[in-house]
Amino acid sequence: MRVGTGWDLHRLAPGRPLILGGVSIASPVGLEGHSDADVLAHAVGDALLGALGAGDLGTCFPSSDSRWKGASGQVLLDEILVRLSGWRIENVDATLIAERPRLAEWRERIQASLALLLRIEGERVNVKLKSSDGLGAVGRGEGIAAQAAVLISRSPD
Ligand code: MG
Repeated sequence: MRVGTGWDLHRLAPGRPLILGGVSIASPVGLEGHSDADVLAHAVGDALLGALGAGDLGTCFPSSDSRWKGASGQVLLDEILVRLSGWRIENVDATLIAERPRLAEWRERIQASLALLLRIEGERVNVKLKSSDGLGAVGRGEGIAAQAAVLISRSPD
């Protein structure tokens, strides 16, 4: 078995789409980035690469490479799933840290969608929501952060 952790933070801006774990969320503000800025998918992707000992998202999918410009979280995770051949994802535990918009009503959809993106059973994925109590950039509503931990094991097949 191997464990990995990931972290990401993106800035919120008016008029940008807000996509978390592949779910398009109705919001007047969304996340900025050269990709779809799916901060949750990015944290999970980094955690998976970490578990594989395969570096990080920025190295594997450089923004200077036009192939990855605007790439969705799904595209990046699909690419990582190829690298996970011979491994099985035991579970993913992730936390979204956001002051705005309120995400409580979206939590279960985000969690289910993340399992679909990873092509694993829903019970293997947990998504938690936190605010940062008004502190720091996230607390001022300037961005959304995500953390993830994953456990992978050698696949029997
Ligand atoms: Mg990112």
